[in-house]
Amino acid sequence: MSSPFQRYRLLRRLRYLTQYLIPCLRVAIFTRQGIWSRKGRILIWGKFRRMFLGLFPALARQLQLKHGIAGGCRSCGASCRLLLKCPHWDDVTHLCSIYEDRPTACRLFPITPEDLRDRDLVLEGQDCGYVFVGSAPTEAEPITFQHYP
Ligand code: SF4
Repeated sequence: MSSPFQRYRLLRRLRYLTQYLIPCLRVAIFTRQGIWSRKGRILIWGKFRRMFLGLFPALARQLQLKHGIAGGCRSCGASCRLLLKCPHWDDVTHLCSIYEDRPTACRLFPITPEDLRDRDLVLEGQDCGYVFVGSAPTEAEPITFQHYP
């Protein structure tokens, strides 16, 4: 049975998610940046992909390793602007204001090279701190990457 604190935290996370999803749906459906443009459709599909994979974190980690994830986040904020600027992203501090309660899809970004392709659609000329080097790590040559819990 969950404790009152766990229930409170779950409700808080649901509230944060709703605060994101409502403007996200509005942009996706009612603006030209959404389903009415090719770029919008790519970004929407990417969101569905990451949301789905976020339901299976172990699988997502496997995919990251399969594609050879390396590097770490530089806090450029591009992945927080896919389709719309996340209402929880703070432009001044360059930090997520709900970091401890951020959704799984945010915790895991990027999962596959397609996520970096999506990310590059919103910020060209400045690379993500993560890269995919294309092969699973070996014991002799481990790949290091920084994921923030
Ligand atoms: S795009 Fe990459 S470097 Fe920029 S905030 Fe997202 S994970 Fe970090």
